[in-house]
Amino acid sequence: MDKGVSAIRSDFPVLERRVGDEQLVYLDNAATTQTPKQVYDVYEDFYGGYNANVHRGIHALSHEASVAYEEAHDRLAEFVGAECREEMVFTKNTTESINLVAYGLGLNELGPGDEVVLTEMEHHASLVTWQQVAKRTGAGVRYIRVDESGRLDLEHAKEVIGPDTAVVSVVHVSNTLGTVNPVKEIAELAHDEDAYVLVDGAQSAPTRPVDVQKMDADFFTFSGHKMAGPTGIGGLYGKRHLLEEMEPFLYGGEMIRHVTFSESSWNGLPWKFEAGTPPIAEGIALAAAADYLDDIGMDAVREHENDLAQYALSRLGERDDVEIYGPPAGVERSGLVAFNLDGVHGHDLSSLLNDRGIAVRAGDHCTQPLHDKLAIPGSVRASFYVYNTTDEIDRLVDALDGARERLDTYLSERYHDRIYDHHRNPRNASGLANPSFTKHSEETSCGDEGEFHAEIAADGTIERLGFESRSCAVSTAVASMLTEYLEGETLETAAELDGVVADLLDGEFPDLRHDCVVGPEQVIREGAAEFLDASEK
Ligand code: PMP
Repeated sequence: MDKGVSAIRSDFPVLERRVGDEQLVYLDNAATTQTPKQVYDVYEDFYGGYNANVHRGIHALSHEASVAYEEAHDRLAEFVGAECREEMVFTKNTTESINLVAYGLGLNELGPGDEVVLTEMEHHASLVTWQQVAKRTGAGVRYIRVDESGRLDLEHAKEVIGPDTAVVSVVHVSNTLGTVNPVKEIAELAHDEDAYVLVDGAQSAPTRPVDVQKMDADFFTFSGHKMAGPTGIGGLYGKRHLLEEMEPFLYGGEMIRHVTFSESSWNGLPWKFEAGTPPIAEGIALAAAADYLDDIGMDAVREHENDLAQYALSRLGERDDVEIYGPPAGVERSGLVAFNLDGVHGHDLSSLLNDRGIAVRAGDHCTQPLHDKLAIPGSVRASFYVYNTTDEIDRLVDALDGARERLDTYLSERYHDRIYDHHRNPRNASGLANPSFTKHSEETSCGDEGEFHAEIAADGTIERLGFESRSCAVSTAVASMLTEYLEGETLETAAELDGVVADLLDGEFPDLRHDCVVGPEQVIREGAAEFLDASEK
């Protein structure tokens, strides 16, 4: 990068901060990137200088806000290679952009016999949305396979995309595997069948040059907060004629042209899709983010991302206690690597890394079916951006040393003695052969997975409880505590559990791991309530 990493880092004051006694190493960029001064200064300029609603007022402030907001559309249109402002709709984020297309187009165009084609590496933002719209319209959903090397199987894509395909929605860069998908080829296959193509660019717009015309996407979606911009703003590119034909997604002020008591007509593009007062400062700040990135150069960003990913792959690859997911070293990647460390649950590992000032993410990264396919409940993801360095990756890899041993100290120092005790000596930590009921749970946000088994006596007393856990140490210890506590109690007690773990821990609740502590209680409560319900029927 012409602008060196140290010059870039000086634009991000947050990178100076410490976490506890440690210097922050921020490696959670695929979730949200940090924001440079050049972007958040926009807020001071806007709120200190020309804060007003857009489009309506005939006064100086409103005019200035309107011009800046409209020009922001031009700027983002240019950033992704759109032809004109009309093709750039501002939304809240990628999720809303995909919903806008699924509802505005999918609900009207899809029907029984049609198929929506997704990939096995789709983010829930696309997978769940299309799944639901398909259900409502009677359409089917098919998935392009991810092969052993973490790439899309293009031969399979050719089989799956066919005459019944109405929509193909494909993620450009996988937020879990780092894979860069050949979206142009996929768009070609889709267009040969007259299907619409949506490209989820949440991870590609921030990390590489995007040209929606070259890739021939009908729709392209992205989020501001992943590209050095603010939260609360995202974008939807759509081919003009398609946006013109589509139904609005949200109704209300700003998006109308003429309203009577019986009828309404719609404003021109892109305003037809921006109902109500829009995120004005956010839109203007997003344009500043596009300026910031273009100043670095998107080719340079892509190269930096790939260099860091390759470095991380080689450093992590030196270890035989690490399993890495996604394309092998040497294949171009976006700047992220998901992995697991033997014997340490991802959630525990991220706590230990946090202790060293290192921010990563653990869980299924909103790609639960992909994790199911990989047969893992979750993974730890380190993701990089323009300000990250190989030194920071070294710190990450070094912090994996001795993690398992440190976990023990971590739990004994941070948690109630009871949690530590149950961690060291879990009770009832095996399944039961003939349970009266089992309750399985998968906690998608953190990658916890487990199952409670219960043997219930004829009078409704809990005779035995057992559990199997692939969850973090804290959740597992809490599960163990609960099985011990509930033995001999009634099913009703279990079905009404509410805060017993807090009592067992004398109210000592840890800040960072609150969900891990309350999660198992909820699972038992639901399992017992469902069993009671079923027995009454
Ligand atoms: N798609 C992908 C590939 C993503 O990585 C994300 C964010 N993790 C989304 C969609 C959803 O983005 P947002 O939460 O900003 O709507």
